[in-house]
Amino acid sequence: MTNNNHNKRLLLLGAGHAHMVAIRQWLEQGTVLPKDTILINPEPEAWYSGMMPGLIAGRFAREDCLIELEPLCQQLGIQLQLRRVVSLDIQSQCVWFRDGGNLPFSLLSINSGSVTHALPSDGSIALLPVKPFADFYRRWQTWRQDNPQATDVAIVGGGAAAVEIALAVSANSQLHGLTVTVYVDRDVLAGFPANVSGRVQKLLGRRGVKIQPQARVGYIENGMLYRSDNNRIASADVVIAATGSAALSWYHNSQLSTDSDGFILVEPTLQAIRQSNIFVSGDACSLANNPRSGVYAVRHGDVLARNIPAQLQGNPLQNFYPQTKALALLSTGNGGAVARYGTSGASHPLLRPILGLWKDQLDKSYIRDHSVNGAYR
Ligand SMILES: Cc1cc2nc3c(=O)[nH]c(=O)nc-3n(C[C@H](O)[C@H](O)[C@H](O)COP(=O)(O)OP(=O)(O)OC[C@H]3O[C@@H](n4cnc5c(N)ncnc54)[C@H](O)[C@@H]3O)c2cc1C
Repeated sequence: MTNNNHNKRLLLLGAGHAHMVAIRQWLEQGTVLPKDTILINPEPEAWYSGMMPGLIAGRFAREDCLIELEPLCQQLGIQLQLRRVVSLDIQSQCVWFRDGGNLPFSLLSINSGSVTHALPSDGSIALLPVKPFADFYRRWQTWRQDNPQATDVAIVGGGAAAVEIALAVSANSQLHGLTVTVYVDRDVLAGFPANVSGRVQKLLGRRGVKIQPQARVGYIENGMLYRSDNNRIASADVVIAATGSAALSWYHNSQLSTDSDGFILVEPTLQAIRQSNIFVSGDACSLANNPRSGVYAVRHGDVLARNIPAQLQGNPLQNFYPQTKALALLSTGNGGAVARYGTSGASHPLLRPILGLWKDQLDKSYIRDHSVNGAYR
């Protein structure tokens, strides 16, 4: 790093998967960052999404599924600030925080993820969006403690997250007595190979999870779930929203170029369009053929690890090329897993324990590799 760069301020916004990977690589490679480098995150830990179903299933403790940020930042010699960004001002090159403060930057890297698509509600039923994970887990625990007699859990959504949470709740012996119903607009795991979605549906049935297909929930009112056409669907004691990824509102309020869903458009170098000093990675960015998943966010980390120092030093940047297929391992909640790779899938009951062991190994090694201390070290 040149002396010139010592006076620059690098803001790493959000302890998402991509930043965790980049930080680990900078540590391994002894990369010197500007003295004024700050990681900003609302909580002192980074959560790992792949282990969230195992946490709900009671297979892991909270601390098994997260990376403590302070020791990591100390080791890299950067500052950690526990704050939440609420806006980004391109003109003054500054981010604003919920606490009213702001920080100008020379170089900004946004890896603050996505939120769950909002489900309009009058507040008559506890509504728990699956993202952000820290909030979801806290609110799920509180709901369980405060409502020991409640039984009806509604899960809205039919993708991987909805299915994993349904299987996790149904596998947890401490949660017996809860009735889980999945409300889905088409069918569960609609985009998955037919053998995987078919077998997972059977498994859900055997675990007592009810599936309500063709039930697109539009809103919640007076303790009931409704379709958008005002037809009543059902009542519930709690609603878990796994309705897909939505952009944080400040992404599209920031004057950065965004796509029609509000995610920030990036060049293949992961630089925001026409903003060479702003990198965007993980769920926050919009790039052709790049689905929103932890697998892709982790791969972005490799490119960020090279491109941020290269940009500071005026060196050429590397492009990110999204892989055409990625492995998805879905937890069945009891230590097993099913797999999808492109259009192929593996879900036979005899394979599930082996796939589950493989998933556990991958997940635990992610936490171990990115933690200075803590679980698995
Ligand atoms: C239940 C569930 C299970 C999943 N399982 C898998 C899986 O097994 N494999 C897979 O590939 N994908 C999985 N996903 C998808 C995966 O979670 C996301 O694609 C991934 O987390 C995106 O990572 P990211 O790097 O964009 O940011 P994230 O990992 O989402 O992290 C964002 C960080 O930014 C912080 N932040 C948010 N807002 C602000 C703000 N305003 N200011 C400052 N900081 C902020 C957050 O606190 C968080 O630390 C799962 C999703 C869900 C819901």
